[in-house]
Amino acid sequence: MTTFPKRIALLGSTGSIGRQTLDVVRKFPEQFQIVSIAARSNVELLAQQVQEFRPELVACYADTPESEEKARLLLPDALLGDQGLLAVATHVDADILVAATSGLVGLKPTLAAIGAGKAIALANKETLVMAGHLVTQAAQRVGVPIFPIDSEHSAIWQCLRGEENKNIHRLLITASGGPFRKTPLDELKDVTVSQALAHPTWHMGPKITIDSATLMNKGLEVIESRWLFQVPYESIDVVVHPESIVHSMVEMVDGSIKMQASLPSMHIPIMNALSYPDRLDVSGSHLIRELRWSEVASLHFEDLDLPRFPCFRLAVEAGKRGGTYPCALVGADEEAVDLFLHGHISYLAIAELIEAVLERHQSVDQPDVAATLDACASARRTVRELWKKYA
Ligand code: NDP
Ligand code: MG
Repeated sequence: MTTFPKRIALLGSTGSIGRQTLDVVRKFPEQFQIVSIAARSNVELLAQQVQEFRPELVACYADTPESEEKARLLLPDALLGDQGLLAVATHVDADILVAATSGLVGLKPTLAAIGAGKAIALANKETLVMAGHLVTQAAQRVGVPIFPIDSEHSAIWQCLRGEENKNIHRLLITASGGPFRKTPLDELKDVTVSQALAHPTWHMGPKITIDSATLMNKGLEVIESRWLFQVPYESIDVVVHPESIVHSMVEMVDGSIKMQASLPSMHIPIMNALSYPDRLDVSGSHLIRELRWSEVASLHFEDLDLPRFPCFRLAVEAGKRGGTYPCALVGADEEAVDLFLHGHISYLAIAELIEAVLERHQSVDQPDVAATLDACASARRTVRELWKKYA
């Protein structure tokens, strides 16, 4: 049984996952309460959220002079900078942290929240990819659960309820294949930012949308699965499923396959992470659209076209090599995607740059937090040094 109300610390409240988390809280005010909240530069929206949800503590990272000035004006009580994120994540009244910032900034606050005994509802996959060993070991040591919000991992987690790890044959992560699944290979060099941002089935923040086009996102999800479910890479496969109705599957040793399905919606995994082991009744809430099987004409499954998606291969290789390779991968990808989004490099250059960075990377075994962040920062610098050659 879950004890309600659950008190939530929310990092990344103005983003795609953050806003959908607040939709859930808005629909279930008896079950959830926001006690602390943080965002970065969307100060107006953060101020509206504060007005509506009345958290006890607000943090605004405010990484530009304009956003800092706005934050001082609209949120005079907000904590600014790094320390604010730590304070929000570890708020004394919070039961659970929803880690929904994008990028690397979530790592330290998530580890701090684990240290403070908070359950973690984890959307921010970079945290697990870079520091899966640190996060999972810390959570085990303290006895804190990590509930996945990423839809594929939420699906696997739901399939695994009541099952033992020894009975898993393999995890099957589904991938929509993104907007370029069928684009002729010789046209990929001309892909524009707006084409790459037009994901066929999911509406997400810009970084993860580009990662979904290159399938870097799927590679990161393979690494995420390795840590969340403690299975070897050899037992994790990816299958392309363009309709995004089946969110992932688990094949058991007896040949039985369990899958979790719904229309594409991040509200469901968010609710699952927040209400576990209970489930929230959404009937009449207008939050989730009912799946009518008669409207789903057919479901397709196909193998991944590996040569089309070099980022996927690079991610899985980095995960298998371990050490700080995944950190370099995450740093290089962040920087390369940023350059692509700003129109400085082509779509194909994203993978080329990441590969060049990984070839140069000097890995460190069993990295601590500092080594993890160093590897990531150094990969970002290398991209900055190299990118003009790939522009
Ligand atoms: P968005 O880009 O939409 O939102 C990111 C959020 O993080 C914003 O609220 C942003 O604030 C905040 N943020 C970024 N940097 C900082 C910082 N330094 N301090 C405080 N807040 C910060 O991303 P998404 O919501 O799409 O994704 C969030 C995470 O969840 C990512 O790691 C992504 O991979 C993962 N994820 C997302 C899914 C989705 O459907 N969107 C699905 C599965 C995983 P501001 O806007 O104010 O600048
Ligand atoms: Mg996902």
